[in-house]
Amino acid sequence: MNKLLILLFLLLPSTHVLANKQSDLHEHNFIHGNESCENNTDPKIEIYEYSPYTYILRQNKCTHYEAPFIYVLFGDNKVLIQDTGATKDTAKFPLYSVVMELVKKYALLKQKSINHFEIIVSHSHSHSDHIAGDEQFKNKKNISLITPTSSSVQSFYGYDQDTLKWPSDNTNLELGNRNLTIIPIPGHQSESIAIYDPKHKWLLTGDTFYPGRLYIKNWQKYKLSISRLVSFSKSHPVLAIMGTHIEMSDKAGIDYPIGSTYQPNEAPLPLELNSLLKLNANLKLNTTPKKVVTDKFIIYPID
Ligand SMILES: [Zn+2]
Ligand SMILES: [Zn+2]
Repeated sequence: MNKLLILLFLLLPSTHVLANKQSDLHEHNFIHGNESCENNTDPKIEIYEYSPYTYILRQNKCTHYEAPFIYVLFGDNKVLIQDTGATKDTAKFPLYSVVMELVKKYALLKQKSINHFEIIVSHSHSHSDHIAGDEQFKNKKNISLITPTSSSVQSFYGYDQDTLKWPSDNTNLELGNRNLTIIPIPGHQSESIAIYDPKHKWLLTGDTFYPGRLYIKNWQKYKLSISRLVSFSKSHPVLAIMGTHIEMSDKAGIDYPIGSTYQPNEAPLPLELNSLLKLNANLKLNTTPKKVVTDKFIIYPID
C-alpha cells in the first residue's frame, strides 16, 4: 500500500461518519403536526439529537402552528439555547425542563456537575414565536438570558459602534472548544443574528433564511445582510444552512397555507449554499421590494 492509499484509508472512516450524519439530517422527517390536533399524541417538543453535544428541538405544530425550531449547542463550559419557542405555558411547552434534561445528560457524559454549565439563552430575533418561553428561564440558576432588544443583544455581544460595529462586524461566542461566530443580519428584524458553528459547519439563520416565506421588513438592510452571509460562506465551509421554520412542501415552489397545523411531505430543514447564492442573486436583481417564488423559498417583502 503506498503512502497516499494509507492516508486515504485513515481518512475514510471519519469522513464517512460525517457524511452519514449529514444525510441523516437532510432526510430527517421532523414531526409536522396532525390532521386532528385534538387527538395528537406527539411529544410537545421533538428532540432531535444530531450529536451528544448538539440538539435541534421543534415545537409541536398542534401547540402552535409556527412550530419553531430551537438549537441547543454544548461547549465545554457553556451551552447556547438559541430561541425559546412560541408558547409561554410550561404545561403546553415545557422547554426549560427539556433543556435541563439535556444539560443533565451532557453533564453526566462529561462527568461534570450540572452547575458547571452556564446556560446562555439567546435569540435569532425578537418575534414572539421565538421568545415566548423566556419566562421559563427567569430567576433560574446559571442562566444568562439576553433580553431580545437591539440594545441588549448588541451590548451582550460587545458591540459599541467604535471597535465592534453593528452590523458590519462579526463577533464570537466561546462555549469552550466551540467558538461560534455571531453574524448580525438585520432585515427581517433589526436585531436579527445568524450563528456559525464550526463544529458541524452549520449556519443558523433564524427567520432570515429557511424553507418558507422570507418576510422582509427592511429590503435594503436585508439585501446587505444576505450578501454578508454569502461572503462569510465563501471563506468558511458550510454544510447546512438552517432556519427556524419549515413552510415549503417537498414540491417546488409550493408552500402550506399560513396557519397550517398539519404539513405532510415537508421540505427538509437544511438548505444548501446554492440556495443562499440564489437568494442573493434574486435580491441583487431588484432594487425595490418584490415577491419572488423559487423552488425552495419565497421572497416576501412586507415593507
Ligand atoms: Zn420572525
Ligand atoms: Zn418565526
